[in-house]
Amino acid sequence: MSHPFNLDGKVALVTGGNTGLGQGMAVALAQAGADIVVAGRSSAAETGKAVEAAGRRFFEITADFSDPACADDVVAETVAKAGSFDILVNNAGIIRRNDALDFTEDDWDSVMDVNIKSLFFLCQAAARRMIPAGGGKIINIASMLSFQGGIRVASYTASKSGVAGLTKLLANEWAGQGVNVNAIAPGYFATNNTAALQADEERNAQILGRIPAGRWGDPADLGGAAVFLASAASDYVHGTVLAVDGGWLAR
Ligand code: NAP
Repeated sequence: MSHPFNLDGKVALVTGGNTGLGQGMAVALAQAGADIVVAGRSSAAETGKAVEAAGRRFFEITADFSDPACADDVVAETVAKAGSFDILVNNAGIIRRNDALDFTEDDWDSVMDVNIKSLFFLCQAAARRMIPAGGGKIINIASMLSFQGGIRVASYTASKSGVAGLTKLLANEWAGQGVNVNAIAPGYFATNNTAALQADEERNAQILGRIPAGRWGDPADLGGAAVFLASAASDYVHGTVLAVDGGWLAR
């Protein structure tokens, strides 16, 4: 019997998999056996090398998720290139920082378009393929700000709180049709997304002081949760928002 975490023969689409958390999860899924398709706006050559070093196939799709209309095409291209489609990791995301009093419509719309609108339409396009094919796995990337308010990141908090709610709604609609929809809520990870926080001595010290594990997360730290939620090991897990946060929420 195959190991329940084994992803041999599966195809995973990871959005924004050229760097940061998306790259960490793409490599972990490949190491568990999946072929990887990365969709994004920058070259994912580095991820491709790591995936191929793990002995898996790698494909790249150019897509800009500031336009949610590309979702159908990205899923269709995934199937055309890789031959099937079993796992969607909705990872691409951006953040804008400003006081709520000064927050602009552009700060609002640009974040919402990528972080929640494109994410929803990618889930929809994926499920339209997965349900007739007998099932699949969808993993949405949430945040600590799916649980907390944060500060100076109004659209990011709204989008990531939305990701948590939407994950539960989609699980309610699709769990009975073989599609597992879950989310991972990363704590504070050292990536481009948090470069401003890492560089701010005071905020860096505050953040580290609150993480029981005593360090920023490394993208590889998300791999286990991604493999679990992508594999048969999580077949009865629906609508959960799994925190991978070094204990941040426990404090
Ligand atoms: P990152 O290094 O900035 O990576 C973000 C990824 O999203 C990049 O691949 C980026 O592509 C892609 N992306 C952004 N806008 C896009 C667009 N319009 N079209 C296509 N791709 C786009 O940040 P990260 O920390 O790895 O973030 C990954 C996810 O984790 C995000 O959803 C983020 O909100 C979430 N998250 C991160 C943390 C953390 O501590 N780092 C914590 C909680 C949640 P480019 O390289 O081309 O910009």
